[in-house]
Amino acid sequence: MAPPTPPRLPTLPLTTPTKKTSRNIAVIGAGAAGLVAARELRREGHKVVIFERDFMLGGTWVFDPRVERDQLGLDPSRSVVHSSLYYSLRTNLPREVMGFRDYPFVVVKGPGRDARRFPGHREVLRYLCGFAEEFRAVGLIRFRTEVVRVGLVEGGKWEVKSRRRDGGDEDVVVDVNEVYDGVVVCNGHYTEPRAAEFPGIDMWPGVQIHSHNYRIPEPFRDQVVVVIGSSASAIDISRDIAGVAKEVHVASRSITKETASEQLDNKNIWLHPMIERALDDGTVIFGNESSADVDAILHCTGYKYHFPFLETSNIVNVDDNCVGPLYQHIFPPLLAPWLSFVGLPWKVIPFPLFELQSKWVAGVLSGRIQLPSQEEMMAKVEEFYLKLEAAGVPKRYTHNMSDYQFDYNDWLAGECEFPASEEWRKQMYTATGKNRIARPETYRDEWEDQHLVLQAQEDFLHCSL
Ligand code: FAD
Repeated sequence: MAPPTPPRLPTLPLTTPTKKTSRNIAVIGAGAAGLVAARELRREGHKVVIFERDFMLGGTWVFDPRVERDQLGLDPSRSVVHSSLYYSLRTNLPREVMGFRDYPFVVVKGPGRDARRFPGHREVLRYLCGFAEEFRAVGLIRFRTEVVRVGLVEGGKWEVKSRRRDGGDEDVVVDVNEVYDGVVVCNGHYTEPRAAEFPGIDMWPGVQIHSHNYRIPEPFRDQVVVVIGSSASAIDISRDIAGVAKEVHVASRSITKETASEQLDNKNIWLHPMIERALDDGTVIFGNESSADVDAILHCTGYKYHFPFLETSNIVNVDDNCVGPLYQHIFPPLLAPWLSFVGLPWKVIPFPLFELQSKWVAGVLSGRIQLPSQEEMMAKVEEFYLKLEAAGVPKRYTHNMSDYQFDYNDWLAGECEFPASEEWRKQMYTATGKNRIARPETYRDEWEDQHLVLQAQEDFLHCSL
């Protein structure tokens, strides 16, 4: 295929470092990323509209009891439910670590509030609503308004086509086309399921569900269930289901074929290597040849990046779950800074990372922070891809930052002249990871890093908005 032709885009004026140029910016999504992006863009003096297809802000953190018709999420024409939260979900990070740098996730006392260190999902939504009110982001949001197309137009600007539904009985739909100087994509990446594949699955007669469509354990009462995966969701959901199911079998790539299947502490949970094959009589055979007669398979196997609205003539693509080419996981070099992505990295502490990405995007768009030339950015991206390839990292792990999120954050902070990550946050993140492995059942209620909690609380006292 011929390489994409670079579009003619406006060049950023040569400004003095303190002079800022205000732009008209469209932000897609009013989840944590879109809200903090909007705040930073406004702080920098830009005019901002946030498009949100839901009727409320919060994205992932808006629990939705509905599930999709196609519970594996393979049918592209299905009516999409955005959030993947299950009813019992508590955060897998402590609140001190999780919150934005200048709007800490502190305990708020009052009726119905959740003061736990690893609170339930409703408390996170309250926190995000508080954030949006504090920084007057709510008035910027166009609710029930889905962005259906983003494409380049004359003069290097972006045409944003949006579709507003009034949600009433008649469901009136209004389409609007508008032109913006720049677009910041914050549409989240935990909605488009990725299912596991293995021999025999097409003929296997049981029920299959992706964790995106898991809400409560009740449908699995007295059943034999296989949960595929080893992520935080797989661990939580297998425990949730074990409370009502007859047996839960967890199949995971992190367990080698040579390992014998193991029963967890007299519970009805077994750990196995990944599934080898499935048979048309309902049997599921694991990598070590142990087997079970199974009623349901739950795929906790992750998600795909998905930008159905984006038309960039192949300048930005998703290839094996790598969004690219992107400079620093944010700017496509040929379209920078007029198109950017906030929130792509995974295996990270999301909110503070989104905050730093947003500061950088806002500063670059105003001309206060300079980007390298297109050629230099492209060369850096190539260098990064080659480094991953040489290390044997699959393409789909391009945005996995488990090994270097703090280096990345500190690089962004340096670009924005913002303080580097706090030492306590780094240590607490590591301590939580270790505690989760040592106490998978109870890490949310038992910990040994109380001294770090005190340091964080001390820090929050000096935090100015
Ligand atoms: P989202 O929250 O998904 O928001 C995207 C928004 O964009 C949504 O409101 C959506 O409606 C909107 N949108 C999408 N497409 C369009 C469109 N075309 N037009 C208009 N609007 C659109 N993080 C933590 O920090 N701690 C945790 O404990 C934690 N647990 C998690 C558990 C689960 C099960 C999952 C799935 C995620 C968890 N996360 C956790 C990660 C979580 O996703 C992030 O914290 C964060 O909420 C992501 O924010 P976002 O804004 O990038 O995306």
